[in-house]
Amino acid sequence: MIDAERVTRTFLDLVQINSPSKQERRLADYVKGRLVDLGMQVKEDDAGEKIGGNAGNVIGFLPGTDSAAAPIFLSAHMDTVEPTDALNLVIEGDIIKTDGSTILGADDKAGITAILEGYADVLNRGIPRGDVHIIFSICEEQGLRGATQLDHSIIRGKMGYVFDTGMPVAGLIMSAPTHDSIMAEIHGKAAHAGVNPEDGISAIVAASKAISKMKLGRIDNETTANIGRIEGGKARNIVPDTVRVSAEARSLDNAKLDVQTAHMKSTFEQEAAAMGAIADVTIKRQYFTYRWTQNDALVKIAAAASTRVGIEPKFLTAGGGSDANIYNAAGIPAMVVGTAYTGPHATSEQASISGLVKTSEFVAALVESAAAFSGN
Ligand SMILES: [Zn+2]
Repeated sequence: MIDAERVTRTFLDLVQINSPSKQERRLADYVKGRLVDLGMQVKEDDAGEKIGGNAGNVIGFLPGTDSAAAPIFLSAHMDTVEPTDALNLVIEGDIIKTDGSTILGADDKAGITAILEGYADVLNRGIPRGDVHIIFSICEEQGLRGATQLDHSIIRGKMGYVFDTGMPVAGLIMSAPTHDSIMAEIHGKAAHAGVNPEDGISAIVAASKAISKMKLGRIDNETTANIGRIEGGKARNIVPDTVRVSAEARSLDNAKLDVQTAHMKSTFEQEAAAMGAIADVTIKRQYFTYRWTQNDALVKIAAAASTRVGIEPKFLTAGGGSDANIYNAAGIPAMVVGTAYTGPHATSEQASISGLVKTSEFVAALVESAAAFSGN
């Protein structure tokens, strides 16, 4: 039985420990204590040292009682975006939120809560279970850096569930996009804006012309593109010689992404060249797509778990990246599962107690379903 009071206490403990990316130390210590309490073998890797943070990924392991059961791993990330300092909680009935001056951090502490409480329930009930690894990663919010540094050989041969998206609870994310970050630096020529503007080449005008001719926003049902940040110029009276544009494109289909990214790059280059400016465009592919079907084992197990807790399985797609992308790129099947929050990365972020309980029930059902999946 999942106890709502206990789940709430765990969640409140977690959100009250400040843990922005690279400053997960106190949270790592807390979850390590909780995993030790569950009787798990617990270790922390050196990912923190490698990326300049103060804590590593925390990994818990407990051998199963049923050697034929499918081994799985359960994962969530410890870091949050900011602001989180001086968090003031507001609890109204079923809803937990803040006073609006900070985020809540339910992304991803709702996931950590569900894993800790759901797995504790499995152990309390003494039901048959396979090998389970629990991974609490660092620095997910700054480019999936903890999961990237993790020694993936620990979890090879397992299927993983990454509890790192919002409502609906137990929503099964069947696919995730690849993401290109596109940095365009446009170099024109400086000149005095009042004395000899004809000698200048405005990098801002070149960037504007390029952006105005670019396909942006929703490109198709699988592809999106955005200009996220623009900075440049020195002063009102100087024709600007440099502007930097930070952009991105995402797609569930790598071929479509190639087309969109090439379009953005060539538009910057052509429009700059037309004015006698130069566009230096740097493209970085951020992570890799995955796509599951209802015939895949990890989806079958998750769907059975969903049914077990009285939720009609929901097969969804998402526009964001997560640690699951890293695991899949490393050849380890993983999918993202929905938890109990809304409004991630915003001060309006909130979680529901009933949703936290349901997600915990789902985690327990997942371990049970993986055990029942043996020999299937
Ligand atoms: Zn997250």
